[in-house]
Amino acid sequence: MAQPPPKIRRMSHPANTHNKPAASAVATDVVKPSNFLRQIIESDLANGTYTGRQWGGSPGDAAHHAKGQPDPAKIRTRFPPEPNGYLHIGHAKSICLNFGLARDYGGVCHLRFDDTNPEKEDTEYVNSIIDSVKWLGFEWNGAPDAAPYQASDYFDFMYRAAVYLIEAGHAYVDEQTPEQMRVNRGDFGKPGVDSPYRNHTPAENLARFQQMRDGLYPDGAMVLRAKIDMASPNINLRDPAIYRIRRATHHNTGDKWCIYPMYTFAHPIEDALEQITHSICTLEFEDQRPFYDWLMARLIEGSLLASPPPHQYEFARLNLTYVITSKRKLAQLVYDHKVNGWDDPRMPTIVGLRRRGYTPAALQLFAERIGVTKSDSWIDYSTLEGCLREDLELKAHRGFAVLNPVKLVMTNWDEVFAPGHLEPCSQPALPHPPEGTEPPPARHFSIGKEVWIDREDFEEVPPKGYKRLFPGNKVRLKGGYVIECTGCNKDADGNFTEVLATVVPDTKSGTPGSETVKVKAAITWVGVANGVNAEVRLYDRLFLDAQPDAGGKDFIESLNPNSLKVITAKVEPSLANALPGQNFQFERHGYFVADRVDHVQGTKPVFNLAVGLKDSWGK
Ligand code: ATP
Ligand code: MG
Repeated sequence: MAQPPPKIRRMSHPANTHNKPAASAVATDVVKPSNFLRQIIESDLANGTYTGRQWGGSPGDAAHHAKGQPDPAKIRTRFPPEPNGYLHIGHAKSICLNFGLARDYGGVCHLRFDDTNPEKEDTEYVNSIIDSVKWLGFEWNGAPDAAPYQASDYFDFMYRAAVYLIEAGHAYVDEQTPEQMRVNRGDFGKPGVDSPYRNHTPAENLARFQQMRDGLYPDGAMVLRAKIDMASPNINLRDPAIYRIRRATHHNTGDKWCIYPMYTFAHPIEDALEQITHSICTLEFEDQRPFYDWLMARLIEGSLLASPPPHQYEFARLNLTYVITSKRKLAQLVYDHKVNGWDDPRMPTIVGLRRRGYTPAALQLFAERIGVTKSDSWIDYSTLEGCLREDLELKAHRGFAVLNPVKLVMTNWDEVFAPGHLEPCSQPALPHPPEGTEPPPARHFSIGKEVWIDREDFEEVPPKGYKRLFPGNKVRLKGGYVIECTGCNKDADGNFTEVLATVVPDTKSGTPGSETVKVKAAITWVGVANGVNAEVRLYDRLFLDAQPDAGGKDFIESLNPNSLKVITAKVEPSLANALPGQNFQFERHGYFVADRVDHVQGTKPVFNLAVGLKDSWGK
């Protein structure tokens, strides 16, 4: 089936362009653009919807919170990942949204592991999720370094809630086969058919449910279902399953349980026990909201849960061009060795983005800029890159790097200076330090008879408009001297091996009179005497298709075979001392980061391309 043309949104912020100290993405005093969620929260606060709520100091049932204090948090939101993989850029949107709303409205955001699905979860994922949320700059559960909440801690309450529903006539054990249940559920045009088990008495159902828990039946033999309405136009209300038999060891509760709650039952209860006010999820859960509300109403009737209940709101998930945002599919890339692990700099995981050179401020800015809406769309990848550029423009120290080196020899150097002479040079680390801040110490390096320049900066026969090195033309070696190109040496095959030039005396940058010789271009360079070899990893998009997995496409087919190119570059000496994870602007090339894993300070410089200086997508 042909795909409809993607509706791709591209966003930039004209107010925050180069060299201007932009409003920091993390500052809280910046006026945030409003959105429908902010409007809802503001109106709830104005109407006092949640005033009078009690907070028992920890998650709990109605009685627990009744014994507590008036809730010091004006609102409570939550970020509830399932610990079945590493977080990705879509989760970053949700994290910034939920933690950001709590921060902006005097609330608290909970980090909760939605670990009700025993098979797929692992503590490796739990730890990496904690690290990622912390790295993005957020604190959860109202105290620094608080333990995250875990849905599995609520299994006892969930069981109690299920028992209550059975006793109140709102749930029954269904022994139909999964196939019978599927057929009897009906479809959009056809009402469902009641299960023959639907009218069992509460006592019969309770006995059966206890037997389910006690392990008397094999996996899948029966389920507990809510008793709502088999004719409801919303299929989710046609007696949804709320508990199933599943013999699996859980990473938190071990083998205590052989029955586990279904997500749709567990999630509203988790929210309510934690006194969440605004439960924000992605649009695909919209049809689940009536069940969410039904369940809350029943459990409040039974005095199990405190009132008012949480309310669910839906927003459009993030779709980013050239990117996959599904933990399962990202896991496939890792386990099939299409990438080098979860933190491969090509991965849209938070650990991958971090290793690529992304900063928390850039991701927060991105989340802010794309905003929240109620309709699905695709965000152009360049929007994300623009946010990183904007953050790094002001912060990343500059450095000279020659990515495709060729040697340039100044043939008159020995006469102008002396054989072997090295002239010290310096350049600012930050040409435009943010207002009110001390500029960082300058970079120091030296120039001698031979320097490395980029191959692209020389043309024997210049194309029209070319302003850099060609025979007879003068350029400035940035931060050094003006030179005049005199030609080049070639090997037997006619490939040029060295560029030849003469140095123009008395033109050293920053010395009196140095500007009297006019040039049309300045090029970056690295001294042969003190330049350092560095491994540089040039990354490109991981997929060639803008929507790699849309409409069930096999995303493996559109993997970009050239998404990683490793080169040896020449870099100025200061860069060898970069700290792992430190960002730089390699002047004229782009933003690079010292690799957090492989870069060894002083001895083995390794840099990753984070983003180019200009937007090159689609070109
Ligand atoms: P995945 O399909 O990658 O496993 P998920 O939604 O199943 O994603 P969860 O761990 O359940 O992953 O998600 C935690 C939270 O992150 C949820 O509230 C979910 O709505 C949100 N989230 C996940 N993906 C996106 C996305 N692409 N855009 C915005 N929010 C997202
Ligand atoms: Mg999920």
